[in-house]
Amino acid sequence: MTDLLCPKCGATSNKKDFIESFCVDCYPANIKCPTKLKIEQCKRCEKIRVAGQWTKYSDAALSSFVMGKCKGPHSEGSYDRETGLAEFRIEREGNIAVIRKNIILEIVPVICLQCSRISGGYFQGIIQLRGSRKKVEEWTGMLYKKLKKKTFIAKEEEKHGGLDIYVGNSKAVVEILSELRVKATITTKLAGVEQGKRYYRTTFLIRL
Ligand SMILES: [Zn+2]
Ligand SMILES: [Zn+2]
Repeated sequence: MTDLLCPKCGATSNKKDFIESFCVDCYPANIKCPTKLKIEQCKRCEKIRVAGQWTKYSDAALSSFVMGKCKGPHSEGSYDRETGLAEFRIEREGNIAVIRKNIILEIVPVICLQCSRISGGYFQGIIQLRGSRKKVEEWTGMLYKKLKKKTFIAKEEEKHGGLDIYVGNSKAVVEILSELRVKATITTKLAGVEQGKRYYRTTFLIRL
């Protein structure tokens, strides 16, 4: 097999890895990415908005946001907020070229829908737990764990014979109760209008 000669730097393929007819350092990858980007981050919970979804802040989530704005032949990529460098890996027949580009990422502080709902006292559902103190406590602990994965808890109120838990999302409660095979007495009332949509409040009465 004859050696390839990189047309840009003159390196030969017996000394360096090649991708197509270029060495990995000179491979002219056609990667299109903006030089400046803006991302929304919630001031309260620090979540960032990636592809329309509020996502827990992490380096991986930030990378996936930046990569979502870049197009090219790369198979994977990452972004480092400290250095502002995006790295794109291109792999062909076992050889890897790493392309680096500078991207300035501006964080735009906002308040996400969930945080604005929490501070506005919004809730969709009330879980009314009724029974002995011991049972109510057991169930509260278990429900909180499950609820926090799907929605938020707006407040709780001690009631004669139990506890009322106010939650952000009724659908989440329905899902959890069916998962636990719990029978609740359900009543629904129109609660108001938010952003042009009617929303309802549902009460779930659970006798333990
Ligand atoms: Zn080269
Ligand atoms: Zn938030």
